[in-house]
Amino acid sequence: MPELPEVETSRAGIAPHLVGHRVARLVIRQPQLRWPIPANLALCLEGKVIRSVARRGKYILISVEGGAALLHLGMSGSVRILPAGAPAAKHDHVDLVLDTGSMLRLTDPRRFGALLWQPENELHSLLASLGPEPLSDEFNAEYLQTCCKGRKTAIKTLIMNSQLVVGVGNIYANEALFQAGIDPRRAAGRVSAQRLEQLVICIKQVLARAIEQGGTTLRDFVGGDGKPGYFKQELHVYGRAGELCHSCGSILKEVRLGQRSTVYCPSCQR
Ligand SMILES: [Zn+2]
Repeated sequence: MPELPEVETSRAGIAPHLVGHRVARLVIRQPQLRWPIPANLALCLEGKVIRSVARRGKYILISVEGGAALLHLGMSGSVRILPAGAPAAKHDHVDLVLDTGSMLRLTDPRRFGALLWQPENELHSLLASLGPEPLSDEFNAEYLQTCCKGRKTAIKTLIMNSQLVVGVGNIYANEALFQAGIDPRRAAGRVSAQRLEQLVICIKQVLARAIEQGGTTLRDFVGGDGKPGYFKQELHVYGRAGELCHSCGSILKEVRLGQRSTVYCPSCQR
C-alpha cells in the first residue's frame, strides 16, 4: 500500500511533467473507484493549465484555475507518465491527457483509490480533519506531548491517527518506535516528555529517509513497464517477527494493535 513516502515520490515524479501544461482531456474508463469520479471533473480540468502538484497527507492535489483534482492511490494505485494514446490495460482507469503529447495514467487494480474535485477556497471534507504533516515544524515535541497527555491509547495507535498527524503508516510507526526505544503498547500518556521528543525526531528521520530513497526510483514514473513508486528500505522490525533484533540480538515479538501487525524488540523497547 502506498504510504506517505511513496505518495511524495509519486508527486515529485509526476509534477515536472504536469506543471505549466494544459489539460487537453480527461479520459475516464472506470468511474467507480472508492467513490465515483465526479461527473463534472472533465469540465473542471479540460483546457486549464496545471498550476501545481502538491501533497497533503496521502492525497495528491493537482491544481488548476478554479480548484484542484484530489488523487488518492488507495491500496494498489499508481501513476505514470506515458505518451498520449498508449494502449490501456485492464486496470488503467483514468488518463489525464496534456497538450504536450504526454499523459498521466492512473492504474488501480483494487479500486480503493479516489479522484475527486476540490473547488478553490474550499477544503474537501476528506482533508478537513487531517492533522499536521509529520515533516512540518508544526509536528514537534510540544505538539505530540499535548496529544498524548492523559491518553491511555497505545502510543503506536496514537501516532497512526491521521487526525493527530498524517502519514505515519504502519511500517513507519513500527520503525520509528523501534528507533526511539519505545514499546508500541505503552499508553501514550505514560511516555515521558523526553522520549516523546525522541519519537518526533525518529518519525521525521524514518519518513525523510524513505522519501530520499524513493528519489532514486523517480525515473520509473516515465515509460512503459516501470513499476513506479514502491521501494523497500532497510527495515529493523516491520515484517521481521521471530527474527533477531539488529541492535541486541533478542527475538523480535509480534502483537496486534488496532488490528495492525506490530513488531518490537522486548529488550530494546520499553
Ligand atoms: Zn533489541
